[in-house]
Amino acid sequence: MSLISVQAQGLYCEKGGFYIDPWRPVERALITHAHSDHARSGSQQYFATHISEGILRKRLGDRTNLQGVEYGEKLKLGDVWVSFHSAGHVLGSAQLRVESKEEVWVISGDYKRCADPTCDPFEVVPCDTFITEATFGLPIYHWQTGAEVAQQIYDWWQGDSDRPSILFCYAFGKAQRVLGELQRLSNFQTDSGDNRPIYVHGAIHALTEIYREVGVEMAPTTPVSAMPRDYRFKGDLILAPPSAHRSAWMKRFQHPQTAFASGWMAVRGARRRRGYERGFVLSDHADWPSLIATVQQTEAKTVYVTHGQSDILSRYLSETCQINAQPLRTLFEGEGDI
Ligand SMILES: [Zn+2]
Ligand SMILES: [Zn+2]
Repeated sequence: MSLISVQAQGLYCEKGGFYIDPWRPVERALITHAHSDHARSGSQQYFATHISEGILRKRLGDRTNLQGVEYGEKLKLGDVWVSFHSAGHVLGSAQLRVESKEEVWVISGDYKRCADPTCDPFEVVPCDTFITEATFGLPIYHWQTGAEVAQQIYDWWQGDSDRPSILFCYAFGKAQRVLGELQRLSNFQTDSGDNRPIYVHGAIHALTEIYREVGVEMAPTTPVSAMPRDYRFKGDLILAPPSAHRSAWMKRFQHPQTAFASGWMAVRGARRRRGYERGFVLSDHADWPSLIATVQQTEAKTVYVTHGQSDILSRYLSETCQINAQPLRTLFEGEGDI
């Protein structure tokens, strides 16, 4: 029997007696990261990286039985050793390394290889069997660096000093990455030299504060709700989650210019279909070249591909790279978090 199998509740390790990112409540859940399609409530006991605890507790509830683990720390669960290794995806995100007497498996969770000032970089973890995600597993996906995209966002914002500029992006991970990159540009100052705040929707504010608590440096922010009712946000940058687009919350802003920051903006027509004026291609997942490079770097003899373009990536790996690769069907299909 293989070390990890797919059960109705999720990826399961029988020798260790645990599930990984289960989509139904289980006894013992190991969580790769706090995006909602990976961290679901209702399980009796959780293990996750220590640094992701703040966000996980916010999402799963304060009373959750959650044990924080350091990156690289080894845990003995049942008959296996388990450790969490950075995935470079969002704050606290991890790959899971599971070691039995016979073999080592690594479950990647979501990951990226581009630099991100708000989380630890991806760590290559050698293994016998690698389960990789493939959200953007098509040859059309090649990412620019976060710094390059932040410059584009900055130029777009500065290009209109009369209107509010509303950038929609996912509230956990993407928003903080944009704020971290803008902080590095560091030239967003007013004439008086004060740091000019970036305004944020409440959902982003709450998560950004948790990032600050663990020491992540980001551009200064002010919640939109903290401003007087008659404040017009002229020439300001505002970050909001996609759910706020076309909601009553938007009434606050007169004739804003709008944009969306997501990997999906690389797909022609996606911006127009979703009704944004601009699209910035910024993803927290690996692009095509880094998916292939990562699989090769792990030196895994067997690769399972899940979470997105599993057929295309696994076919490429087996036919072109001569790696024993196959799709793994799970419930992690479709867009999920981006
Ligand atoms: Zn994710
Ligand atoms: Zn995901």
